[in-house]
Amino acid sequence: MRMWPYETEADALRDAVRLARGMTYKNAAAELPYGGGKCVVIGDPKQDKTEGVLRALGRFINRLGGLYLTGVDVGTTVQDMEVMRMESPYVVTIPEAMGGPGDSAPATAFGVFQGIRACLREVYGSPLPQGRTVAVQGAGAVGKELVRYLVETGATVTIADIDQEKTSVLAAHYAVNVVEPEEIHRLDVDVYSPCAMGAVLNDQTLPELRCKIVCGSANNQLAEERHGDLLAQRAILYAPDYIVSAGGVISGVDSLNPGGFNRQRAMEKVSHIYKTMANVMAISKEQNIPTYRAASVLAEQRIAMIRQVKSLAV
Ligand code: NAD
Repeated sequence: MRMWPYETEADALRDAVRLARGMTYKNAAAELPYGGGKCVVIGDPKQDKTEGVLRALGRFINRLGGLYLTGVDVGTTVQDMEVMRMESPYVVTIPEAMGGPGDSAPATAFGVFQGIRACLREVYGSPLPQGRTVAVQGAGAVGKELVRYLVETGATVTIADIDQEKTSVLAAHYAVNVVEPEEIHRLDVDVYSPCAMGAVLNDQTLPELRCKIVCGSANNQLAEERHGDLLAQRAILYAPDYIVSAGGVISGVDSLNPGGFNRQRAMEKVSHIYKTMANVMAISKEQNIPTYRAASVLAEQRIAMIRQVKSLAV
């Protein structure tokens, strides 16, 4: 559930449809037994969020009887979900103490790390981050966890964030280099990992990239699809964002098991992102198409197959 001060209802609808489509592809490629959906709320999360609003939303979601499950997105928190949960069991991303998966960022970061390993194997013949250079854009919830995985496995990491406090805290914990936010995508590194905002692969940044691989959690990294074609033309391996950032939703879905959430099992499932990314690269090579299109092929193949299963008269 996203909460955002959309200017018009049409803007909100457009965003909901775009995001729902994104969730469909993400869930299909991650082999989850769910379709995609999104709920957007028009409002300022800093001012308009009250217990009344959240519980009213919970009641509305409950009326859908499980057709739609909701979780945290921009403008909402695990604590908001806890309030909504009072009205509906179809609110998924609740705290671990309540049987839910808690914060999704660590699982998302682990998935991105698996994506990076798969890309390293493709480009350098070995998935080991040891001795590789990685530029992480954004030292937020996902970025900081990703940095931990990378540093612990021997990569040389450079970070940037518009919030200096975030980079300072991270630099105090780990041996990382810090650069200005406008420099990070230009570094001569093995991997550029966008973990901040979307549309970072655009007409202005693309000619400036000097990395071999782009793999990060940020949603909608390609400003337009044609930027995915341009990356392929420049022989830069692009890990489609919804493939490698599926860790949060994979872990969230684990909490729907009858026995409740199991972190070890969830992380084991998230680790399959390595294989999914390898499959995307295999389709890309077989069909001679850029990786962003190969990811769509993978997702659409699964959607078509499951549609057939669902149409069986039993
Ligand atoms: P976050 O808000 O915790 O962190 C984002 C960080 O990026 C912040 O520290 C912010 O200051 C920084 N930032 C913003 N603009 C920047 C810029 N121009 N240059 C450098 N840094 C900048 O968010 P998050 O949860 O870490 O998510 C990061 C990205 O991953 C988002 O695009 C999000 O949609 C996506 N994502 C997150 C999850 C998840 O589980 N949290 C799952 C899937 C996708």
